[in-house]
Amino acid sequence: MQKYRIISFSLVHILILIHVLWFKNSTVGSFDFQEFFDRFIGMGVLNAGSIMVIVAFFSTLIFGRFFCGWLCHFGAVQEFAWWVFDKFGIKPKTINSRLITFLPLFVLFNFYIIPNISKALNPASNWQLSLNLSYPEVWTFLPGVVIGSLTFIVDGFLIVYLLGRKGFCRFVCPWGAFLKLPTSLSTFKVRKTGSCTNCNMCTSGCPIGIDVSNEINNYNKVINSNCTSCMICIDNCPEKALSYKFQNPVNDYDNLNLIDFAYNKTSYVNDLIKEKFISLRDYDLFMVPFCIVFGLLLDGLFHIGHMLSFGLASIITLTIFNNNFSFFFRRSIFIIAIIFMSFNGFLKYSQYKAINHFNNQEYSKAIQYFEDIVFYYPIEVGKYHAYLGVCYLKLNKIENSIKHYEIAKNIIPDNPNIIQLEKLLSRVRR
Ligand code: SF4
Ligand code: SF4
Repeated sequence: MQKYRIISFSLVHILILIHVLWFKNSTVGSFDFQEFFDRFIGMGVLNAGSIMVIVAFFSTLIFGRFFCGWLCHFGAVQEFAWWVFDKFGIKPKTINSRLITFLPLFVLFNFYIIPNISKALNPASNWQLSLNLSYPEVWTFLPGVVIGSLTFIVDGFLIVYLLGRKGFCRFVCPWGAFLKLPTSLSTFKVRKTGSCTNCNMCTSGCPIGIDVSNEINNYNKVINSNCTSCMICIDNCPEKALSYKFQNPVNDYDNLNLIDFAYNKTSYVNDLIKEKFISLRDYDLFMVPFCIVFGLLLDGLFHIGHMLSFGLASIITLTIFNNNFSFFFRRSIFIIAIIFMSFNGFLKYSQYKAINHFNNQEYSKAIQYFEDIVFYYPIEVGKYHAYLGVCYLKLNKIENSIKHYEIAKNIIPDNPNIIQLEKLLSRVRR
């Protein structure tokens, strides 16, 4: 099946290219999972991305996370990274931690589900069901070249090297988390249909790090909701003991004891697979809060989006707690992480205070915090200079206002605040 998967991934990339080159601003807009949450749940707009997510959700109820294993371009990038590492003889180990359960769900609920449901339920919301396939345009959610390349390197390559094949899918991806529920209920699953010799070839090959042998021998099927229906385990089995088979979900969980599964201590212990996995589960209690705080403090700063911030947060957290690295290396990473988090915390606190004072029309207090931000921020950010331009104008400090207006105009010339500021300044100048 694997050659068909490669064809499928290649076709997806060709379609993305055609979409970007031919349909840029017209017929079909952005195909992003985010569309479903931002536009459909938050605003009621049924666009191309929303329809794709609805199709993915319902197809998962039938076929499992086929979308992740056969179509997702980010999955393809990680598979490519794995192939490159393999060519150089590098075999990253799979890290096990409960972060794979908590982190993707946290990202999904904190950034997409809760804010958009709140937006839709807000009395001031003008939620209205409508169909608009061309909205928003293809580029809307694409980051710039620098952040885009960094995301590609961190979430495509670094995470595979340090956390294992499909590290991003396991530890960060909120779309995978969204498809966990329908995966659990899916009618088609990898099932045990022959006799198993416990050779563990299926577990060794699973890109998601599922202990397939353990699951199929305990439950007669793969029950892990991270399974992406890639069929590698089926292809790997020398006994042809596995098949991708339909079963009515009503009769599918008769032999499953959930408590037993949640506290399953028999996974990943077989001698044949032991050296392929590193378990950090004993540190979960420290790692989960550390990783979430780290991600939150980084998110949104330096133009970094959710996927990159939480990709970096998971890599750094799991590296700090991974005994396979030297103590000196882990301690150094820890110290750098704490300094970086403190700096980001300072910036986020200043942002919060500055905007708060600005909204309360306390312009001189807001200026102190905005000045701190533009002084310490390593890159120029137009919106803070725009805010400063307004604050100084309100305090009648025209020269300072013009200085910040000029800087902001160079960075974000079409921003509505800049246009507004331009009008106010021209009135004052007259
Ligand atoms: S359990 Fe099998 S089908 Fe599921 S992700 Fe692992 S290898 Fe692929
Ligand atoms: S590869 Fe086949 S025979 Fe080997 S453990 Fe897995 S299911 Fe059993």
